[in-house]
Amino acid sequence: MPLFEKEETPVKVRIQGKTLHCRICDHDTFYKRRSQLNTRAATFLNLDWANRSAFCYVCAKCSHIDWFLEEQ
Ligand SMILES: [Zn+2]
Repeated sequence: MPLFEKEETPVKVRIQGKTLHCRICDHDTFYKRRSQLNTRAATFLNLDWANRSAFCYVCAKCSHIDWFLEEQ
């Protein structure tokens, strides 16, 4: 399964009223991904806060990932 669909276009993201910029390359468009965090490791480590959905934005240029616990 490809990481990104070919027809998907990266989007600009606003967090707390500010445009999100990649902290690595300063690019400003991202692919949005939703991920479930209830992994076996999280359960083993008793990280209850991690047993929830998270959202990540993957930089369209350098693929650096920024994670958020709540949808932005
Ligand atoms: Zn980047």
